[in-house]
Amino acid sequence: MPTLREVDPETSGLIRLETERQSTKLVMIASENFVSEAVLEAQGSILTNKYAEGYPNKRYYGGCEFCDRLEALAISRAKKLFGADHVNVQPHSGTQANMAVFFSVLEPGDTILGMERSHGGHLSHGSPVNFSGKLYRVITYGVHPETHLIDYEKLESIALNTRPKIIISGASSYPRTIDFKRMGEIARKAGAYHMADIAHIAGLVAAGLHPSPIPYAEFVTTTTHKTLRGPRGGMIMCTREFTQKIDSCVFPGIQGGPLMHIIAAKAVCFQEALSPAFNEYQQQIVTNAKVLCSELQSRGYSFISGGTDNHLMLMDLRKHDVTGKMAEEALDEAGIAVNKNEIPFDTRGPQVASGIRIGVQAVTTMGMKEGEMKEIARFISDVLSNIKNTPTLKKVRGEVAHLCSKFSLYHKRLKEYIKV
Ligand SMILES: *Cc1c(COP(=O)(O)O)cnc(C)c1O
Repeated sequence: MPTLREVDPETSGLIRLETERQSTKLVMIASENFVSEAVLEAQGSILTNKYAEGYPNKRYYGGCEFCDRLEALAISRAKKLFGADHVNVQPHSGTQANMAVFFSVLEPGDTILGMERSHGGHLSHGSPVNFSGKLYRVITYGVHPETHLIDYEKLESIALNTRPKIIISGASSYPRTIDFKRMGEIARKAGAYHMADIAHIAGLVAAGLHPSPIPYAEFVTTTTHKTLRGPRGGMIMCTREFTQKIDSCVFPGIQGGPLMHIIAAKAVCFQEALSPAFNEYQQQIVTNAKVLCSELQSRGYSFISGGTDNHLMLMDLRKHDVTGKMAEEALDEAGIAVNKNEIPFDTRGPQVASGIRIGVQAVTTMGMKEGEMKEIARFISDVLSNIKNTPTLKKVRGEVAHLCSKFSLYHKRLKEYIKV
């Protein structure tokens, strides 16, 4: 069969350019990562051809004997990794995983309590532009104005006053450890279910570097593509009693056929995550984040909550006369990809924002350690203190490319592309 380059040089060329971009710039977007060649191979396999509606040994199509074994393998590895009673590996995304949980225990109009988006919460936790905000009555909690830590006391009084049916813990831009035990206790006191969404920190949880919510939540949802470093997708874990409800809410509730190639890649990701090397990787993430954050602090930059416990940090740009948007654009020009991000109590909207979110999990996958974090801190500081100075941005762009060239991310792919 002809190759992609022969069939469609335009698409092939764009994939080549994206491969180059990922390999020669610093990806510091806190929700991204670089998967292994093994994950890519499973994801790009012929499993994409197969319809397997249903669950292992209960399918609506014939010829599912190997898909059954693959999905069972993914499930058993995920159970071992997180210690969950029941796992559903079919959600196409983190948002789909959350949707299935909501549909399993909520009726339209029910009250949900989630973290305010500008304080770190996710769109699917009740944002008015998301289905979760349209279908349910949304109450939010947030962080304390001084400590920037989740205000658990206030959260408890909100929960007791508003009696939500579900409390959602977990965040997209919260740099500190989340007290899932406390959240579970508050939920129990308020008569609510507890759903913990660990999309960002799943890798840290798997490695035991962030306390697991499994003992304290009926439902735990995650993506598999952030710190967990697997294919783009979602997953639901739940206590035994919700097994049937969750499974039927995913299929046939909100999805059709599962993406078997992605489920195979999830199995590979879980296998990798069960290895000692993965624990070392997660440990290095935490170390790198602390080093990068303290290096930037010593250069005069402030961070929400004053530091980080996980893979990400939230820079507060208010005292620098720079917006999140300006910082994102200048850093991108210099070869450093971050995203503008609202900070708690931000007075600029999400399109401009007063902060940037920086994550180290992808550069840590490249093999970068403390020394490189110090270099990156200097790059970021050079850019932010010379934000309109094109020669400085160019100079940093060169330094970034040189740093990346010392690490061989997708080396073979790049070489193959050059050969043609
Ligand atoms: C990224 C994220 C999601 C959603 O993931 P998608 O796969 O993009 O739908 C859900 N919850 C949290 C907390 C996230 O950070």
